[in-house]
Amino acid sequence: MTTDLVAGLTVPTNLLRGGAWVPAEDGGRFDVVDPATAQVIADVANGTVTDALACVDAAHEAAPGWAATAPRERASILLRAFDLMVERERELAELIVRENGKSFEDALGEVRYAAEFFRWYAEEAVRVSGEVRTAPSGNNRIMVVRQPIGIALLITPWNFPAAMATRKIGPALAAGCTVILKPASETPLTALAVGALLAEAGVPDGVVNVLPSRRSGAVAEAVLADPRVRKLSFTGSTEVGRTLLKTAADHVISSSMELGGNAPVLVLEDADVDVAVAGALLAKMRNGGEACTAANRLYVHRSLVAEFTEKLGAAIGALSVGPGMTGAAVGPLVNAAAVEKVDELVQEAVARGARVVVGGQAGEGPGFYYRPTVLADVSVDAQIAGEEIFGPVAPVIAFDTDDEAIALANDTEYGLVSYVFSQDLARALRVSEALESGMVGINRGVVSDPAAPFGGVKQSGIGREGGHEGLLEYTESKYIAVDW
Ligand code: NAD
Repeated sequence: MTTDLVAGLTVPTNLLRGGAWVPAEDGGRFDVVDPATAQVIADVANGTVTDALACVDAAHEAAPGWAATAPRERASILLRAFDLMVERERELAELIVRENGKSFEDALGEVRYAAEFFRWYAEEAVRVSGEVRTAPSGNNRIMVVRQPIGIALLITPWNFPAAMATRKIGPALAAGCTVILKPASETPLTALAVGALLAEAGVPDGVVNVLPSRRSGAVAEAVLADPRVRKLSFTGSTEVGRTLLKTAADHVISSSMELGGNAPVLVLEDADVDVAVAGALLAKMRNGGEACTAANRLYVHRSLVAEFTEKLGAAIGALSVGPGMTGAAVGPLVNAAAVEKVDELVQEAVARGARVVVGGQAGEGPGFYYRPTVLADVSVDAQIAGEEIFGPVAPVIAFDTDDEAIALANDTEYGLVSYVFSQDLARALRVSEALESGMVGINRGVVSDPAAPFGGVKQSGIGREGGHEGLLEYTESKYIAVDW
């Protein structure tokens, strides 16, 4: 079964298992909804535990052949996948818009970013190195080789349905692993389209299996309990990440976790306000605020806060809101629950004394809209400063000293990314080093780069994706003691 939802792109709607597109064994399917209209636009196979284990069988069967495939050949296939993705970037972007809601411009940016993971890991596939050391005794050599870790379960969220999948599939395939991808139930079509594209690029049957399922918990448990599975790579909420880590612990499975964020923006006393506003706008509004890297709390030096808030309010207030395919800058949120949650956080902050500079309420339906919002004078204790907003709301809080800003920024269980604005690089670097986050952007609102190690500290995650580090997550080092 397929859908022609997007002109020029036929997307399979069954499971991809062992190179075949098959229905769920019980025939079950689930709906995909367009957040701009609240209408059902497609339905896809709803994988069962039996389907999941059949995917493990397929991945297991394909594993020795893929691990033995020359790195150069694996690289060529990934490069073909990169080319195909770039060729179809507009169609894939439209597909993302239809099931996720984001603006077309954001979706196009995502497809290009997603494709880059195939190119980057095609280049990394031929550079997996080992090491030879001399033992301290001088009597023998310590040889370390890196081997594919084995079958990997990849679980991805709905907010970047293409990029979160390729950020895992790229390094896994480069390292020689076979995978089962379980995409988010809100956005399975993009994952299925990526699966089809990889097959077209020449990925052998069973190397990539795609399993949409609304039974995420049961499916993940069954796959992780299978002793042939050696890796879990999860991107999603900290809450689900914790649950999965417990399951993984029962089977001692290597786990990479890309979890929630609560990114602080620090606009220091000597910042260029216009640069800070432009950076904060990007960090906040890219993907309509539905990003783990989204600016969640804006700490601005008291001497700049009035000017900053006014300028940010004007910029955010000027953003057009509407269906992603109409050219609007901000699309709908993913579902009605997301709108409700964002509004609750805004109303709680207002009840604690925050002032609405712009926005402050849901937009008009039938889609799931929230008006781009700036809140001033937000209390440091407001719920909105402690929780992931995942929506187009920017809470601004004034501070007096760098140390105070650092303490506020670090006062959270999360530690994914922080943003610092200052014209004094030494000062910005000093602050960056004191911030408890896996990534810091200085004078810029975007840090994501396929060539860089992306990931968090504290409860934002374990491990890194992207860069050279991302590939190592799919390898196991083997030490061979050698006498010669
Ligand atoms: P989510 O945790 O609800 O779901 C993520 C994935 O896990 C989905 O595929 C879902 O179906 C699956 N899932 C849900 N319950 C499960 C269970 N019990 N067992 C196994 N799988 C289960 O997250 P979401 O709402 O899809 O995405 C938003 C979250 O993802 C945010 O917290 C965001 O910060 C985070 N995120 C993090 C990064 C990062 O790189 N750190 C990137 C993007 C999104």
